[in-house]
Amino acid sequence: MRLLLLEGAQSIGGTKIYLEEGRAGILLDFGINYGRWGLYFEEYLKPRPGRGLYDLWALGLIPKVEGLYRCDLMPHDFAPSFEHTLDIHGVFISHAHLDHCGLVGLIREDCPIYASAVGAAIMKAMQDSGKMDFYGELAYCNPRATKPDDARAVESQSHLPYRGRPLRSVLGGTPEAFRQFWQTPPNPKALSTPSSRVKKLEAPCPEPAPEHIEGLRFRAFPVDHSIPGAVAYLFHTGEGPVVYTGDLRLHGRHGDQTRRFAETVAKEKPYLLIVEGTRLGRETSENITEEHVRQNALKIVKNSSGKLVIADFGPRHIERLETFLAIAKETQRQLLVFTKDAYLLEAITCADPTLNLLGHPNVGIFDELRLSPRGWEEAFRERYKNLLVRAEDVRADPGRYILAFSFYDMNDLLDIHPYGGVYIYSSSEAYGEDLRVDLWRLWNWLKFYKMSVHGFCWKGADERGTPQFSGGLHASGHISETDLLWLIKEIRPRYLLPVHTEHREWFVRALSGEPIKVVLTPDGEWFSGA
Ligand SMILES: [Zn+2]
Repeated sequence: MRLLLLEGAQSIGGTKIYLEEGRAGILLDFGINYGRWGLYFEEYLKPRPGRGLYDLWALGLIPKVEGLYRCDLMPHDFAPSFEHTLDIHGVFISHAHLDHCGLVGLIREDCPIYASAVGAAIMKAMQDSGKMDFYGELAYCNPRATKPDDARAVESQSHLPYRGRPLRSVLGGTPEAFRQFWQTPPNPKALSTPSSRVKKLEAPCPEPAPEHIEGLRFRAFPVDHSIPGAVAYLFHTGEGPVVYTGDLRLHGRHGDQTRRFAETVAKEKPYLLIVEGTRLGRETSENITEEHVRQNALKIVKNSSGKLVIADFGPRHIERLETFLAIAKETQRQLLVFTKDAYLLEAITCADPTLNLLGHPNVGIFDELRLSPRGWEEAFRERYKNLLVRAEDVRADPGRYILAFSFYDMNDLLDIHPYGGVYIYSSSEAYGEDLRVDLWRLWNWLKFYKMSVHGFCWKGADERGTPQFSGGLHASGHISETDLLWLIKEIRPRYLLPVHTEHREWFVRALSGEPIKVVLTPDGEWFSGA
């Protein structure tokens, strides 16, 4: 067994690990390292699509690996020198957060993706409804070619169909609806789309994952995280089992899955455990659970009768959405989500029919202003026209609704007049300068609307101030320090490799005296147990 930690040793996110056993070579996750990305890029300064891989390569934001990337993203003037030549037979995705899967779009389109059906459905829904950055072509590629008259530039080939990635579903099923969804282009023929404008998608049918990849046997385990479809993996190597946790926690609604994963892999006596440590150093003494969030938010909504309530949480945070749906039911309100979020919910149901949130009696879709809806959107709105609720309906009877809105939706509120309403900030505490500035603007919007705000406030008279968060309205997606120690001692590996953390030294300290050797492999180096 050989293991190369391409990236993610000391950063929250951007995990990229290469594992080799015999003939088999695989990647574990291939996400965006937002910390390093943010050193150079922001929303309006991004890698140039016309230069393909070049910008990311030149800035050192992707590993210099031969045999990994799409050839159509390499402009002809680009003569890369590689640090590694690796034979990669599959990319194993732990879950659909972009810091774990956000650069899959750069990988050779014939390289199979191993993921849960729910995780894959989320990846495709994000691509269908998103901004279509070339590195975000997670489920299917838009083929490009170097321009005949300019060796620097790659351009998309509009006459060629999208090429879907081969998908191996790791937690068993590939329901019929999911297979269809995976093979449906993002612009299915809608009422107003001339058929000449419909670009085809040629995608191989998703298959259940085999038991081994080039002789490397593996198992996948569902684990609890803040996005559905999260998976941890175990690989049987010559040295013994190698376990990768992805992101997980014990205190969520499905914490029993994480517990079962730990107990099951412990029986295999793992050689190496690759484990996340996101919350180390960010620890607050209390470990808020989703049930605490439900109780605290319910109290606020009950005390706001007749007023509009806005719940601000990440659009892919399905567990939080379930929490607010339960609150909507109990307070006889309707929870309104945006079309894009509703599209994601439909995709999840395709992959797991038991997760049918659009079928919930208290859900509705906010009918946002659209001058020219895109293909996926037009067809979707047609399918769910009974669920659409317009701004004037909300304005007429604000006490009947909870809006799942956040900062970027503040201007839609200008049509609703939410004056005197209630805002519940139910998202993670913001880190970094960009998010601080966003919260300052959000604060100004909320003051403009004279809303009473729960979950955060602005300390300071102007934009030089800082946001202050008050607890109880958000539960972390990541395992707490105490639970992490339990997990490691339960699994009891011979070696432990921390990733996805800014505090690797915690592992050395916390495990001193234990028969577990912590190995601090740096980015770009091979793991060595010796
Ligand atoms: Zn995550």
